[in-house]
Amino acid sequence: MTFATLGLIEPLLRALETLGYQTPTPVQLQAIPAVLAGRDLMAAAQTGTGKTAGFAVPLLQLLTMEGPKVASNSVRALILVPTRELAEQVHESVRQYAEHLPLSTYAVYGGVSINPQMMKLRKGVDVLVATPGRLLDLYRQKALKFNQLQTLILDEADRMLDLGFSEELGNIYRVLPKQRQTLLFSATFSDAIRLLAGQMLNDPLSIEVSPRNVAANTVKQWVVTVDKKRKPELFSHLMRKNRWKQVLVFAKTRNGVDQLVEKLQGLGVNADGIHGDKPQATRQRALDRFKASEIQILVATDVAARGLDIEDLPLVVNFDLPIVAEDYIHRIGRTGRAGATGEAISLVCADEVNLLSAIETLTRQTLTRHEEQDFEPEHRVPDTDASGQVIKKPKKPKKPKVSGGGKRNLGKWVDSGEVAAEAPAIKPVRKVPVFNTGPRKRKP
Ligand code: AMP
Repeated sequence: MTFATLGLIEPLLRALETLGYQTPTPVQLQAIPAVLAGRDLMAAAQTGTGKTAGFAVPLLQLLTMEGPKVASNSVRALILVPTRELAEQVHESVRQYAEHLPLSTYAVYGGVSINPQMMKLRKGVDVLVATPGRLLDLYRQKALKFNQLQTLILDEADRMLDLGFSEELGNIYRVLPKQRQTLLFSATFSDAIRLLAGQMLNDPLSIEVSPRNVAANTVKQWVVTVDKKRKPELFSHLMRKNRWKQVLVFAKTRNGVDQLVEKLQGLGVNADGIHGDKPQATRQRALDRFKASEIQILVATDVAARGLDIEDLPLVVNFDLPIVAEDYIHRIGRTGRAGATGEAISLVCADEVNLLSAIETLTRQTLTRHEEQDFEPEHRVPDTDASGQVIKKPKKPKKPKVSGGGKRNLGKWVDSGEVAAEAPAIKPVRKVPVFNTGPRKRKP
């Protein structure tokens, strides 16, 4: 099957050819005809499957073939995404696919001045990529009207709920025309997502291109057990020993990111970090430099790195395990993309055994463990298996207390006191009532 046999028009075929897309990926094979036929879609597609083209390419075709010319301050298709980086990335893809079409595209997100965005929207935009908060700000300031809206796309819908955007989604939903096509893409399908889909979609076609909640099987995954305080040292050791060239590293907290970057830079390594406290321009610059291989190690929190597509990324390192097991799948999805093979290494300390067990249960596999010579942990990581068991060994008798015994110093790195704002943004429990009115957890 080729893109031409899917019924795509010549300007789109030309754009895809320029990008080197020869055959449609499984999600594209299913999504493109369904979207062209005007169906609503509920798609479970892992990141890296080509889902962006799966929705954007047929969308662009429909916008070219049908509907009126866009009016001022109007938008004909809206793509909602959870983070600023993803907004930029999705917009860049849409722009490339629309290269030979007479359609305008734009991306809006928070953390940057709203005025240029308001100016740009005056002429109207065919395809707008947006984060929910900024979209509502623009709507409330009357910079946007939705009466021409034909299509709504929710990309990474699970992440939008994780980030506390359910209220914004509800507010957006209420001001959109009822007559429209809606496509919902989500890496994972929790009850909250199914509820959202039930409210927003009309007789949707369900697409599932990989088994639910199973990590990309093109990624070789293993765990190195280590004491928490020795993680930075182990990371530098593995980096040198294995001559790592380009690595995306995930840390749990903003402090964790900053400290690891500082440590690596101190060792003369070309490293940078991205997290929610950094200005958008700095985050984007670090990411662009990493993509251009000008930075060797990029350390990121989950919030900053979700959904990023970095070509040929060979290795992801989990410096800390994620608090939400499903984030593990998203993290390792940064490598092994579009059929390439990749490697994901997790540095795991005894404190993280429950997180490890949750990941193994979710991915239905026991991760291979490894101990690095000279870094064998003093605090053993209890055995785990994919059934969710943490196999506890009988406790050793307690040692008598040392006089004046204060708290044991676990070193400088990522101690419990440092679990800063980034980590609690993602709660392990996903049963968020859709469109609730609770406080928003964080902006992207
Ligand atoms: P996505 O899952 O949309 O983030 O896409 C992951 C990567 O696959 C991106 O770098 C796309 O440019 C690439 N890609 C998408 N579709 C195809 C295709 N049919 N052939 C080759 N590469 C593709």
